[in-house]
Amino acid sequence: MLLAVVRETCDKMFQLVRYGRWLKNLKKSQSNLLLGFYISSTTTTTAARNESNPSRSSPPPIRVSLTESAGRGVFATRAIGAGELIHTAKPIVSHPSLSSTTSVCYLCLKSFRNRITSEAQGVSFCSQECEEQSKVFYEVEKQADWSAYREYCCTQGLKYPLLAKRLACMVTCGVANAESLDILQPAILSPEMILQMEKEFTLLRSAFEEANVTDEQMAFLTKQWYVGVLARIRINAFRIELAGGLYDYQDLLSSAAALVEAEAAVGNAVYMLPSFYNHDCDPNAHIVWIENSDARVKALRDIEAGEELRICYIDASMDHDARQTLLYEGFGFRCHCLRCLSGD
Ligand SMILES: [Zn+2]
Repeated sequence: MLLAVVRETCDKMFQLVRYGRWLKNLKKSQSNLLLGFYISSTTTTTAARNESNPSRSSPPPIRVSLTESAGRGVFATRAIGAGELIHTAKPIVSHPSLSSTTSVCYLCLKSFRNRITSEAQGVSFCSQECEEQSKVFYEVEKQADWSAYREYCCTQGLKYPLLAKRLACMVTCGVANAESLDILQPAILSPEMILQMEKEFTLLRSAFEEANVTDEQMAFLTKQWYVGVLARIRINAFRIELAGGLYDYQDLLSSAAALVEAEAAVGNAVYMLPSFYNHDCDPNAHIVWIENSDARVKALRDIEAGEELRICYIDASMDHDARQTLLYEGFGFRCHCLRCLSGD
């Protein structure tokens, strides 16, 4: 039981976000163009508040700082009120957990009410829209036999390879770029981790080879690509637990039972902008998921213009030493937030 708790904590820890060295490389990166979009779209923001639905006409009240000193992270460009929805974000890539594959939408992870079942593998989509959006990559996925890859993930208790598999299918059919995740900071990998990833890669690659996929389509799919993607997924993936989406008391009861028996998360996803938030043990922002994988970043308290927005990477209810150990082992830094400075 204790092991399970520790493991759970580690899972959460490794799914969260860190930047550090990544920012130093950022200016050289082609992906800089992408970040440039966020910055240009956020520095022109107006003071107008839009409490419920930040739209294209009112860009989110944030900017991502590129200064290399202490200034990395996400900053408020105006005062933000407690509870305000700062912005939403769609995943770059998402995937249901193995235990949720048949109970949530195969794309957006929404729990089912009106499912549209696809014939193979028992996966379903919540809407025509999700089915349409998934069509191309799912066609590629269906061509391959994933049983060995899935089996390996299952026995090893791995969930991140599922995200890598989906991204590989998306790249193969041209709906995603092979460099989609390059802008995110990679985890530092031990030789053991790399060895495991190489095993996964062999299984992934042979699934594609046996499917009807051309060499040209698979050209990106090298060991180096796979390890690089997993290294980024490892510390940038968010574990998604839905706060809403329950329809009646019976659902609530069965859901509570399911939480006890199985993994509470419906899946995992990697985002761009939410990955730029720094950590604080006493955060002023947090990320919630209501009914699907759309991330909602909300203010936890009143925030002043210019203040850095931070989220908590780990369970903030742990004591000070445990928090510092997890942060150091997981992300290679110690927290210097006000709460940590006071020794709490
Ligand atoms: Zn959906």
